[in-house]
Amino acid sequence: MVVSGGPVRVVVVEDEPQIRRFVCEAVRKEGCLPVEAGSGRAGLDAVAAGEATLLILDLGLPDMNGIDVIRELRRWSALPILILSARSAEQEKIEALDAGADDYLTKPFGIGELLARVRVLLRRHGPGGESTPVHRFGGVEVDLARYLVRRDGAEVHLTQIEFRLLATLLANTGKVMTNRALMREVWGAGYAEQEHYVRIYVRRLRQKLEDDPTRPRYLLTETGVGYRFQP
Ligand code: CA
Repeated sequence: MVVSGGPVRVVVVEDEPQIRRFVCEAVRKEGCLPVEAGSGRAGLDAVAAGEATLLILDLGLPDMNGIDVIRELRRWSALPILILSARSAEQEKIEALDAGADDYLTKPFGIGELLARVRVLLRRHGPGGESTPVHRFGGVEVDLARYLVRRDGAEVHLTQIEFRLLATLLANTGKVMTNRALMREVWGAGYAEQEHYVRIYVRRLRQKLEDDPTRPRYLLTETGVGYRFQP
């Protein structure tokens, strides 16, 4: 993948040399150029030096908290961020997503899983990755600009909240959205503590749009975190 003549640079921030090497090797296989950093500060410097397309960030770093790295970066950059987190650090992972990370992988992860996430993020943020107003998945067609949803050609009625929830998930295709982020986007800041609404409305959307609402193929649950639209 090539953007504006140069290779795609992926900054890899990970203090464990073995994992860092593994990730860099995978990134290279994808045709990208890895830029290695062993600490949060070195990672921020590498991003600030320019030309980075993606940041892969371990949350457990020796010099600073990975969440602080995300917060600092988000003050001046919209660079996509994929976080690597320990299995025991569930709450940290959610905090990182709320702070502006785009996706996560839980250690240990395989190369296939890693590359799938990297590709989604590069596609979403790459040239031509702009979201289009019309989305199609399964037999469903969603025209965001005209507030129109069809399933197998027949119009599906969605309430305003259902439509906004669907539009938010579609606008963030492939990206995990925390319950809190969905509450903020769909209901507004004042409802942040009513996270069970999200579950109720996702269930309604599945009933209207999925072939088998109990085994959804598109509106996926990220256990303990939130939801993801996967086309
Ligand atoms: Ca670490």
